[in-house]
Amino acid sequence: MLEVNHISFQYPNQEQTLENINFTLNKGEHLCIMGESGSGKSTLLKIIYGLLDVNHGTLYWNEKQILGPAHHLVPGMDFFKYVAQDFDLMPYTSVSENIAKFLSRFYPEETLKRTKELLEVIEMSEFAHVKVKNLSGGQQQRVAIARALAKEPELLLLDEPFSQIDNFKKNSLRRKLFKYLKEKDIACIVATHDGNDALSFADKMMVIRNHIIIANDTPANLYKSVKEKYVAALFDDINEVSIEGKVQLLYPHQFQVSKEGSLNVSVVTSYFKGSHWLIESLYNNQPLFFTNPSSIDEKKTVLLRVQNCL
Ligand code: ADP
Ligand code: MG
Repeated sequence: MLEVNHISFQYPNQEQTLENINFTLNKGEHLCIMGESGSGKSTLLKIIYGLLDVNHGTLYWNEKQILGPAHHLVPGMDFFKYVAQDFDLMPYTSVSENIAKFLSRFYPEETLKRTKELLEVIEMSEFAHVKVKNLSGGQQQRVAIARALAKEPELLLLDEPFSQIDNFKKNSLRRKLFKYLKEKDIACIVATHDGNDALSFADKMMVIRNHIIIANDTPANLYKSVKEKYVAALFDDINEVSIEGKVQLLYPHQFQVSKEGSLNVSVVTSYFKGSHWLIESLYNNQPLFFTNPSSIDEKKTVLLRVQNCL
């Protein structure tokens, strides 16, 4: 189990980056760390991996203390793997060799089998013999993930792991990767600003803002509780509307066009979203977004009712 006990961190001559960060993660559990750019997600992953020395607090993996570079000749924990935002691979060697480099030379058959298995997880079997320098950024990112998994770490730290991977591949890769991690009981911490990474794949989700943790719960609870606009906005468009004098946070799908509705809105624009339309409207001069099965003409007025269920 990972224990992060009230840690604080500050880069030299900078304002505080992280303050009183406190959480635990069990074996095989998946945590998503979310927050806007510059909120300290990458810094926190580096601290957990042992690349930075904290100013206050302690970190443990099971009973072993995680210490920074001030205490180690070679920083980084043995049974953790960390895939940085700027993954560095060996450009002039093949995809297979990049993965196999971290496996034992004494068991060539086992190495071959593992490499093949990992190539399937990252959906790159047909690229096994291609030199890394000839791959796209997204493909290189996938190889970096496979390489980190080669030796089955106990904890995998991924920094924006799907940032360069196109949507077309992203969904199936995410499903495969997190299923594989669960099968192998590998704990995982993913830093991301994409709510979709959290919703379907994480057991827990933590949001960092202004140096501190502002939310820590299951993704479903955070989605449904809608206490903070900042948290809800990580998942979807969120409306902050004053209805009968009470300010409410509501997702677009919580409104429905209905003759019995009590909110009179004037349509501004309709955006096609594939399975539905997102309608931008004005309610008492406040912008209000709602979903609808079809587009609605500009300037038309419609009545909306609020569905409280999510
Ligand atoms: P995130 O990953 O959430 O975008 P980072 O952890 O990269 O955030 O950065 C958090 C803050 O620390 C930012 O203000 C950033 O400019 C600063 N920072 C990051 N790395 C360094 C560094 N090596 N030296 C000084 N400041 C840094
Ligand atoms: Mg970052």
